[in-house]
Amino acid sequence: MYDYLVVGSGLFGAVFAHEARKNGKSVLMLERRNHVGGNIYCEELDGINIHKYGAHIFHTSYKDVWEYVNQFVEFNNYVNSPVANYKGELYNLPFNMNTFTKLWGVVTPQEAANRIAQQRTVIQGTPQNLEEQAISLVGTDIYTKLIKGYTEKQWGCSCTELPAFIIKRLPVRYTFDNNYFNDKYQGIPIGGYNKLIDALLEGIEVRLGIDYNDNSAEYRKLAAKVVYTGPIDAYFAYSLGRLEYRGLRFETERLEELNHQGVAVMNYTQREIPYTRIIEHKHFEFGTQPVTYITKEYPADWHPGEEAYYPVNNDKNQQLYEKYAARAKQESNVIFGGRLAEYKYYDMDDVIKSALICAEKEF
Ligand code: FAD
Ligand code: UDP
Repeated sequence: MYDYLVVGSGLFGAVFAHEARKNGKSVLMLERRNHVGGNIYCEELDGINIHKYGAHIFHTSYKDVWEYVNQFVEFNNYVNSPVANYKGELYNLPFNMNTFTKLWGVVTPQEAANRIAQQRTVIQGTPQNLEEQAISLVGTDIYTKLIKGYTEKQWGCSCTELPAFIIKRLPVRYTFDNNYFNDKYQGIPIGGYNKLIDALLEGIEVRLGIDYNDNSAEYRKLAAKVVYTGPIDAYFAYSLGRLEYRGLRFETERLEELNHQGVAVMNYTQREIPYTRIIEHKHFEFGTQPVTYITKEYPADWHPGEEAYYPVNNDKNQQLYEKYAARAKQESNVIFGGRLAEYKYYDMDDVIKSALICAEKEF
């Protein structure tokens, strides 16, 4: 009998398992996929770390989380500065003076602010959805060229049906600063994310290719407590209905080129192009290899049984999640944590923070 059975080897499970072992507890980890790491897993090809489940840039303002991850792996000084491609016109992201200058030929922050103020007058009162929120932040031109098409293909619905918070993730700045994030600390693990996961899981017994929900009654007997990081609705056999997720499809190509697009992330913001972004992986680690790998990221409708990438946090799903969460509270000796079990649009640092808080309560 183990002290803990950790279901899922993503960041939540790996951090929790590490802390448990550090505190003298025995841990068994089960992972459905054939590798550890969840969505931060990378595959090395020609010396380049391929982010298999989409581009991952570590950024945080939590000093404790930054110090925590740096114990396990050193981070480089990569700063994410994606470029938006709208019908062949290139704009810097996030929305900043470089974007405004290219778009309107304005020179000063005041001129840019005036343009946006003029355009946002179409929105009265508090923004009720993503479209209203976006227009009120950056005006109609940017909304039309850089937000509407990208967002509607990303989420598969109209911007008026999406919650405003999604767009608030992006900074809007009246300075010439292309840093995509406002956080104090940022970088990519030198040598890739697998180094971080492998260090966290050192000494932990992991069984791959096992879905806990296929035989939960038996697996449950293996440990005094379970830490579950899979989808919360799957845990309860969808008994209250299914939560919705957004899916993704990745298409990776090896190119006999030194440098394909000159930036790690290029967003394709027009609706007609079916992918949202092209990632050129080598630029995350300033690679100088003679070849390069690019990945096109296609948003997709999600069907049961497929990898669930994003929770769709609209009112309907949120209400259903609350019902599952109430049931989860009544499960004795089971901890639910992470992006899928909490049905939250969590970044990596939030997941680590929440796993650390959870571990602190436990030990
Ligand atoms: P996961 O990584 O999903 O791990 C859960 C694990 O549990 C998986 O390995 C899964 O296979 C396993 N599992 C599930 N169910 C079962 C079961 N029944 N039995 C056994 N195993 C099971 N965050 C950032 O900070 N910066 C970024 O740039 C960034 N980019 C992202 C890009 C994309 C495309 C996506 C999808 C996410 C991105 N994120 C980013 C978020 C980041 O991936 C997550 O915050 C983090 O990986 C979540 O960790 P987790 O442990 O909660 O979940
Ligand atoms: N977004 C956009 N245009 C862009 C980039 C992002 O409209 O070029 C919007 C889109 O709605 C997206 C949200 O901003 O879902 C958050 O973007 P972020 O890059 O944080 O998304 P993630 O990396 O989590 O997919």
